[in-house]
Amino acid sequence: MEQRLVELQQEALEGIKKATDLKELNDIRVSYLGKKGPITEVLKGMGKLSAEERPKMGALANEVRDVIAKAIEEKQAVMEEEEVAKKLASETIDVTLPGRPVKTGNHHPLTRIIEEIEDLFIGMGYTIAEGPEVESDYYNFEALNLPKGHPSRDMQDSFYITEEILLRTHTSPMQARTMEKKEGKGPIKIICPGKVYRRDNDDATHSHQFMQIEGLVVGENIQMSDLKGTLDVFAKKIFGEDREIRLRPSFFPFTEPSVEMDISCKICNGKGCSVCKGTGWIEILGAGMVHPNVLEMAGYDSKKYTGFAFGMGPERIAMLKYGVDDIRHYYTNDVRFLKQFSIHE
Ligand SMILES: [Zn+2]
Repeated sequence: MEQRLVELQQEALEGIKKATDLKELNDIRVSYLGKKGPITEVLKGMGKLSAEERPKMGALANEVRDVIAKAIEEKQAVMEEEEVAKKLASETIDVTLPGRPVKTGNHHPLTRIIEEIEDLFIGMGYTIAEGPEVESDYYNFEALNLPKGHPSRDMQDSFYITEEILLRTHTSPMQARTMEKKEGKGPIKIICPGKVYRRDNDDATHSHQFMQIEGLVVGENIQMSDLKGTLDVFAKKIFGEDREIRLRPSFFPFTEPSVEMDISCKICNGKGCSVCKGTGWIEILGAGMVHPNVLEMAGYDSKKYTGFAFGMGPERIAMLKYGVDDIRHYYTNDVRFLKQFSIHE
């Protein structure tokens, strides 16, 4: 019996030595140390031994088990270590290799100019108000002092869905909507960017769909000088600190008095060139003091409150700022054009 145990130990140790992976090792563990293994089998024959020999044989059997178990444990540790080393070697990263460039898109030039203008006005305490592009005749025209049959409506023909529902021709409906929400109380300082629509024939300077940014300030003691100061800051921040502005009298049904704002031509510095058509000035936007009728219709007391409004076309501003010569470039989505506005290249 003793002989058999020694043999089993040797066999097992040899098997462990030859094992090449963890599975093989586990098989050896199960077959030698398991309940149905040969050592258990040998011990079953203990009954035939004398009382003296029995504990001796028991101790030997335990010793053999321990030796085998320890050998398996050691081999397993070595194998696991090797596995980790192998894995590390196979996953080595060469940090000196140049990276693959990631292709990124960029903001559309109109998005860029709109965000720049938004940032500027947010910095002056304005909030952004966005409204529906499908608008009612009331908010698009009537609430802005443009009753049905008013001749000024001819300049803003639109796409009608029904007699009373249309695609908005300007972002001005947000004036009336915002004032109504405030129920005639308290100051307002908003800018409203968004898409607008007109029944225009597309050419280098016209598009049936374009963007507008509207500004509205309502409060007590708001004066023309506040409007002029605001527009002056706008012109200098967007077009350069050395730009001058001038206001010319104009007409809009929703403002009184109304003005057009020009900035001094950057190209000729006011001397006159082809861009400014020899005048030294470039027309930028329309503005004015909010018409008392507009205030009253939206529930504001025009004796107590005054305000100013301005509206500009981001396309035109981006055209002047970036030197774009045709409004259609913004909408035809030629990647070569759009890529010029990437900040990454
Ligand atoms: Zn000029």
